Amino acid sequence: MPPNVPVFPFERFRRIFLLGVLGMGLLASLLSLLMSERSPGVGSVDHVSTSITIALFSVLLLALWRGWVSTTLVGGTGLSLMLAYQLSNLAYRAANGTLASGGLGDGAVWFALFFPLTFLLLPLRAALLTSAGYYITGVGIAAVSILTAHVNGGLNPAVVNPIGQFFFSHLALLVMIYLYARSQAEYSSVHHMAYTDPLTGLPTRRSMGGWLERELGNPSTIGFSILLVDIDHFKQVNDTHGHATGDQVLREVGMRLSSALRGEDEVCRWGGEEFLVLAANTDRQGAEHLAQRMSEAVRKEPFLGRLSLTVSVGLACWQEGDTAETLVHRADEAMYRAKASGRNRLEIAG
Ligand code: GH3
Ligand code: MG
Ligand code: MG
Repeated sequence: MPPNVPVFPFERFRRIFLLGVLGMGLLASLLSLLMSERSPGVGSVDHVSTSITIALFSVLLLALWRGWVSTTLVGGTGLSLMLAYQLSNLAYRAANGTLASGGLGDGAVWFALFFPLTFLLLPLRAALLTSAGYYITGVGIAAVSILTAHVNGGLNPAVVNPIGQFFFSHLALLVMIYLYARSQAEYSSVHHMAYTDPLTGLPTRRSMGGWLERELGNPSTIGFSILLVDIDHFKQVNDTHGHATGDQVLREVGMRLSSALRGEDEVCRWGGEEFLVLAANTDRQGAEHLAQRMSEAVRKEPFLGRLSLTVSVGLACWQEGDTAETLVHRADEAMYRAKASGRNRLEIAG
């Protein structure tokens, strides 16, 4: 897996997740502002900070919803705001003594949201370090405040247990989210290995299996086609120039074939020196053109400046009642006919 990809399981829903979090944050802040106006005891600092939060959440929500800025930017800003809000709120309560006399306050219920958000937005290690830093700072502020109050005689003993429970439960939550994200990362890396050919970087036969099933389940009105592409006399490349050169050639063939594809086409390394192309929404004529383009891409110039190669292609067009096996079998037969007829050519399955 690329090292800098976030691994949180909601990765695919990142934007929706962020919209939801911002929306909830906005509603919660509005509720808090509304209630604070009705309760005279609430301080003006709370009032101002809640108003600022509402304004910022609204701007972020609008910008993300309209697509003006990237999810990464909105997520990063949201994360920083959440960190600043939670920690400054704690520090403010610690400084004026309310933490030791009255506890963490209502806003602390949002303390935990920071953890899933960091794992959603940052790579695993960075998410762990940021979350741990945030958590330790929170614990530190609370501990210093309680100890100072204890020494000064201003501690309300009734707040110690809830604050302790709060931080222990959040430690458990942080550890669980980390372990979950780590197992996701391991799963993603195994998934990547199973679905990506290490030599060419192309998808594997396993990926093609999924695409074929998708196409077979819902073929377009003009159907689809598959093309089996086999390098001619490839064994000679290995025998004459060595296996390492053979590997380099295979990589380049993969690149040349990929560059000949159109938007909807998929290619995989089917095995050895064979590649399978799925041409979605493509009839026989379209697939013949594609086969020409791919053959030309291989033929047009020598590999590594000195090795001229050709390919044989077997084309099979989807027919009613086809399964992945029958389709591939026809393409395979056609490819072998191309070999038998002298190679460097296209044969079409009947
Ligand atoms: P034909 O024109 O009949 O296809 O002849 P060919 O030599 O291409 O076919 P054959 O099946 O006899 O040989 C395929 C060769 O591909 C044999 C094998 O060593 C080589 N090959 C398969 N996978 C790899 C690989 O990953 N790297 C390298 N360097 N060679 C490979
Ligand atoms: Mg072969
Ligand atoms: Mg071959």
